Amino acid sequence: MTVPVPSLNNGHSSTAATTRTPGFSTRAIHVGSEPENSISRGVNTPLDLSTTYKQDRVGVHAGFEYSRSANPSRLAFERAIASLEGGDVLLSQALKDEGIDERESEAGPPGVAFSSGSAATATVIQALGGHGGHLVSVGDVYGGTSRYQLKMAGPLQGLETTYVDMSYSTKPDGGKVETEEEQDSVIVDRIEQAIRPETKLIWIETPTNPMLSLVPIALVASVAKKHNLYLVVDNTFASPYLQQPLLLGADIVVASSTKYIGGHSDVVGGLAVTGNPALLSKLRFIQNAGGAVPSPFDAYLLIRSLKTLALRVREHSRNALAVARWLEEKAIPAGLVRDVRYPGLKRAQETPAQKRERYLAWDQLSDEAKRWLAREGFTRDSEGGFPAGGMVSFHIRSGSAQSQTETSVAETFLETLRVFTLAESLGGVESLAELPLKMTHGGVDPTHRAKLGIDGELIRLSVGVEDVEDLLHDVETALKAAVKA
Ligand SMILES: *Cc1c(COP(=O)(O)O)cnc(C)c1O
Repeated sequence: MTVPVPSLNNGHSSTAATTRTPGFSTRAIHVGSEPENSISRGVNTPLDLSTTYKQDRVGVHAGFEYSRSANPSRLAFERAIASLEGGDVLLSQALKDEGIDERESEAGPPGVAFSSGSAATATVIQALGGHGGHLVSVGDVYGGTSRYQLKMAGPLQGLETTYVDMSYSTKPDGGKVETEEEQDSVIVDRIEQAIRPETKLIWIETPTNPMLSLVPIALVASVAKKHNLYLVVDNTFASPYLQQPLLLGADIVVASSTKYIGGHSDVVGGLAVTGNPALLSKLRFIQNAGGAVPSPFDAYLLIRSLKTLALRVREHSRNALAVARWLEEKAIPAGLVRDVRYPGLKRAQETPAQKRERYLAWDQLSDEAKRWLAREGFTRDSEGGFPAGGMVSFHIRSGSAQSQTETSVAETFLETLRVFTLAESLGGVESLAELPLKMTHGGVDPTHRAKLGIDGELIRLSVGVEDVEDLLHDVETALKAAVKA
């Protein structure tokens, strides 16, 4: 398959002014959507519903033959997401290193779109897992991902999965771990103990779901490199505005575009991005052969969503920090809440692991997000913390801590909320709240669940972009109604 790949400067002569690398939102708005791509020169990417395309002579066409293999609307989304995750620059460099002319590369842009995040996950595991191989996965991985690892890749590919705690928050039994080097070596040791001769890849997700622990991407990438393994990062929770794992050493980024990328709770989709030409060819092959492609209309909606991704994620993050701070500074002292989890939160009293996690939350931010926070006057040591994504988790104080069955206080809280909607999923403009124990993580093994801290008190919030005063008032009112302090 060959597809036309115009540049962002398409239609302009390349002057000194156009050699500047455009910023995140400029790329989100323009890459893939260049008017020169359409006959009408429309500023929006046309929704191209054709399933098949005219060939001028046999095998001579404009880059499109059949819509499952390549479609102009999907291509526009794939080019945009490749640019936002940093895959386009990495792929150009890799092709140059291999002496291949980019225009002759058959695999299209380094972003590959799927009909869901789960289809992207399945494709990547099929492409990298091999037969009779082994995978090392972060422990609190998305429920659908562990279901695929254990119940699909296990029986179908003979792929075994080992789960490893890769967070700073858990110390080894009885060990005293204080310095950064010691904290790092705990994680490296745990991963290396799980690696076998047949291990093919490491799969991580950060922040994790629902505990919002952080996994140090660059550190895990160095372990993967040392052992000649691929590193896959699920970037769904952070979005490419906040975090660009390929630039920290990951080989493939996957995401559910159903969440922040779509952002309006109206499209299910997924993606994978890689700067590695051989991996890209494999993903593109399975995209076409497996056929789990998004419809042109889904691609059209996702292009529209990408244009406001930075605006939305900044506002989600500001609101979420406000909610996390209110919970930490007001609800904990009032005896309503036991603890709060938010990557950027700076607690008055923090353990060395919590401090390390907060610094990691800052260090792992994209350059673009760091520039935004600097403009807003934030540093990694700002009092109260800094905005770092829209997800907040906390344990409500119920009187039956760590119970795997007692949920009545949490349920009263969830059912009293008026602005937050009781629902699964996340990343849309509207605020959502849920009980992981019985909803998103109901299928997770109870022993594993208890170890992670998923119990009848744990609430997960996806903080939306409504007015923050309304969100704070809603949480306060529902907490006071639910908890008999
Ligand atoms: C939702 C989600 C997925 C799966 O994506 P779907 O679009 O629902 O198939 C994968 N990973 C994470 C972290 C998710 O939140």
